[in-house]
Amino acid sequence: MEFELRAVPKPKHKRFKPTAKQRGQISTEVYEAAVERSGGRCERCGEKRYLQCAHLIRRWKVEIETTVNDVAMLCGPSVNTGTCHNIIDFTRGGKEWAEEYRQKLYKRH
Ligand SMILES: [Zn+2]
Repeated sequence: MEFELRAVPKPKHKRFKPTAKQRGQISTEVYEAAVERSGGRCERCGEKRYLQCAHLIRRWKVEIETTVNDVAMLCGPSVNTGTCHNIIDFTRGGKEWAEEYRQKLYKRH
């Protein structure tokens, strides 16, 4: 099982309101919670493949910070057509799935 290695740089300056990029950042805690929830399988197709932590919502739409309900472990890489990460980023049906899945995650808590 392989996971994308991510290094999240610390913001250099304190800001009153975090930028869209900062709000879209996936913290280690969120990443680990998503990995645990996925059980090592793609949360969309269920395949045990190379997984990436994908945003279910556009980064600029995140209000304060990205939570575990805003992301899903999906098979990737996103640049490859046919992977779930590619589908949710680039197809209408995939975006709808992402939005519905996100609603479902928020309802569980
Ligand atoms: Zn998949």
